[in-house]
Amino acid sequence: MKVLVINCGSSSLKYQVIDSETEQVLAKGLCERIGIDGRLKYTPAGGETEVTDAPMPTHKEAVQMVLDALVNEKTGALSNLSEIGAVGHRVVHGGERFTKSAVIDDEFIAGVEAVSDLAPLHNPANIIGIRACQALMPGVPQVGVFDTAFHQTMPQKAYMYGVDYKYYEDYQVRKYGFHGTSHSFVSKRAAEIVGKPLESLKTIVCHLGNGASICAVDGGKSVDTSMGLSPLEGLIMGTRSGDIDPSAVEYIANKEGLDFAGVMNVLNKKSGVEGISGVSSDFRDLCAAADEGNERAKLALAMFSYRVAKYVGSYAAAMNGVDVIAFTAGIGENTPSVRADVCSYLKFLGVEINEELNKEVHGDEKKISAGDSKVLVYVIPTNEELAIARETVALV
Ligand code: AMP
Repeated sequence: MKVLVINCGSSSLKYQVIDSETEQVLAKGLCERIGIDGRLKYTPAGGETEVTDAPMPTHKEAVQMVLDALVNEKTGALSNLSEIGAVGHRVVHGGERFTKSAVIDDEFIAGVEAVSDLAPLHNPANIIGIRACQALMPGVPQVGVFDTAFHQTMPQKAYMYGVDYKYYEDYQVRKYGFHGTSHSFVSKRAAEIVGKPLESLKTIVCHLGNGASICAVDGGKSVDTSMGLSPLEGLIMGTRSGDIDPSAVEYIANKEGLDFAGVMNVLNKKSGVEGISGVSSDFRDLCAAADEGNERAKLALAMFSYRVAKYVGSYAAAMNGVDVIAFTAGIGENTPSVRADVCSYLKFLGVEINEELNKEVHGDEKKISAGDSKVLVYVIPTNEELAIARETVALV
């Protein structure tokens, strides 16, 4: 079956067409500036990227342009739209209502709308994308795959915040966690590579990208994760602060004359390694600046790795052990110095990496632990689109 995978943001739409039998990507791309002017990027397998500027007042026109590109006579990856057997949508927040992926119907959409307060920027965009696909591909089954669902196995002691219980009862204030599709994909792959049953392994997945989170996976189930009610909690990220004393919110607001929205904007968009370094959120720029002696870039990198290591250590305690540590996403897959720095804090757990091997791994699936390491350490590239396509096929 050919599956169209859609990831909708408020003004963007990423897509891939995946052949579920071969698991090959047949075409992929991005619609940008939806509601502003509109630009389609389309790359067929093995072909050049085409860029087309065209008005996209809503996501519906964006989906229509993607479908037109897919059946374009010259460069289309499909000969006919009827080849699309199903559509898989990434949906950010499923609250406590969705513990797994689900086939999309009216009840599903109502359920996602009901938890939209928890992800006001993301869930409405996801629903717009779903409705656009329903309108343009009537009769094609659609599936929603949640970022949060994998973490619904966390025990209550891990997901509750230390605030009055009524906020949980009345408003569902709790840790939800994100990147679930990636944590699930990578932890399953780790078990395959190690050649042991998933149920027998304690794995810590470090998803280190522009957004970054860590997950403790015990026997295939998420038992704790670093992101929280929103993706702001936890690690220091590209532009997000991660963990911070909430008193700093009031303090910064008073000093800078900002309201809540203003401080949240600072914490989400003007903080993290970019805010600390004053250089960039991109680790390639940060590493280059640090190599040239930029002290704040060095500090940002040091703070990033230190925070990752602290979470790994705490999750080893949460699971009373760890068998496998897996690095994934843009930074985890491509930045050996970060992996080496993180692992240097973990020798007390028996983590030893092969420094030479580690330096060579950029985006490949490879073991980087030394032969005598008590914990296996791997780089495992994530593939959220493939995971969504697999879930979609399984459900339809
Ligand atoms: P993601 O959000 O997973 O796409 O990851 C984005 C982050 O990965 C950015 O900070 C990039 O700098 C980093 N990244 C991507 N490719 C590389 C690379 N080849 N070398 C170093 N960092 C990279």
